[in-house]
Amino acid sequence: MPNAYCLLLPSSVPRTILHVDMDAFYASVEQRDNPALRGKPVIVGGGWGGEHSRGVVMAASYEARKFGVKSAMPEMQARRLCPQGVFVRGRMDVYSAVSHQLREILTTFTPDIQAISIDEAFLDATGVMHAHASGLALGGAIKLAVRRDLQLNCTVGVSDNKFLAKLASDLYKPDGLGELREADAPARLAPMPVTVLMGVGPKAAASLARRDLRTVADLRAWLDARDDAQVIREMGEHALAWRRQCLGQDDRPVRERDEAKSIGKERTFGEDVAAPEVLRATVLGQVEETTRRLRAAGLKCRGLTLKLRTPDFRTYSRSAMLENPTDETTRVWQAAEPLLATWLSQHPGPLRLIGVALHDLTSTGQLELFGADPKPGRVDAAADAIAAKFGKGSIRRAGAIERDRNRRP
Ligand SMILES: [Mg+2]
Repeated sequence: MPNAYCLLLPSSVPRTILHVDMDAFYASVEQRDNPALRGKPVIVGGGWGGEHSRGVVMAASYEARKFGVKSAMPEMQARRLCPQGVFVRGRMDVYSAVSHQLREILTTFTPDIQAISIDEAFLDATGVMHAHASGLALGGAIKLAVRRDLQLNCTVGVSDNKFLAKLASDLYKPDGLGELREADAPARLAPMPVTVLMGVGPKAAASLARRDLRTVADLRAWLDARDDAQVIREMGEHALAWRRQCLGQDDRPVRERDEAKSIGKERTFGEDVAAPEVLRATVLGQVEETTRRLRAAGLKCRGLTLKLRTPDFRTYSRSAMLENPTDETTRVWQAAEPLLATWLSQHPGPLRLIGVALHDLTSTGQLELFGADPKPGRVDAAADAIAAKFGKGSIRRAGAIERDRNRRP
């Protein structure tokens, strides 16, 4: 797919994967927006109706969790456990707006994000680690940005894979930051209950307990004493996956951004290119093409990411968020150009590939209350019409023509 926008790194490059999880998300948003709720056992749900209500707990603040209140618990039970609880009606529109803001914050760190719920995401930071002292330093920077911009706390787990990153954020909750690397995983997992493994729910745990397998170490010893055929015979095929998990191994990728949600264009050079004017012209041409596709689809973008691959196959990305959604070539270029200029000033060496992706797409421009002069839009519309009629090469910005000139021998 032309939109495909993923890290293609040799498998030998160690990954840095982060799991970001907001703390008691709905309840924390309520406490943030209503200071009277701070420090109180806040229980968020829908349609609290008092004594005979059949409401269900959507989220509980840490103060309420101390009483045993959990999400998905019936309201009646929560009221019994925590009579002094403050029952608040959930405001999903607010939570989803905050979730969107969270995503924007995370996008400034890396474009490789997989949202797994309204308040949780995996980040593949492998391609941006040159900019951070360590995975923990990056996690700390994310926590600071979230607190600064949202006035909310999150927990960040850092690892080489998704399984351990999520486990780390569970371990260090709330308001935590912790690392659980694959190298340390066998020893650290050993004393933990088997339920830390993926796919070991209460039912599987009960069946393992009947064989006296309660910790990861128990299960690992049991698996080590058997070959695959025996494991399948005695426990089923799903048990084979636990072999690797007991060692903390997991090579699932952080799924790239939904393709429908980004429009991208990239180019691998026949020969690595260092000339800034060629790189600049290439990116300008890509901005022209992607914004044209944006307009053709009736979309606007708020985010853009520049993707750069060096001759040693390391892939980097640089992202920017625009103040307002746009579909204008000039405005996207105004954001892309400084990203490229900064990159070139720091990394003057040649590039193997360069690309642009537009994301955070919306189908309306209604947020653009203080829109720019309408003239640029008219210029783009005219350029699109000419391109549609006479072909893409018929109208180009002067800078983009430079690229073609340099491409010829
Ligand atoms: Mg959470």
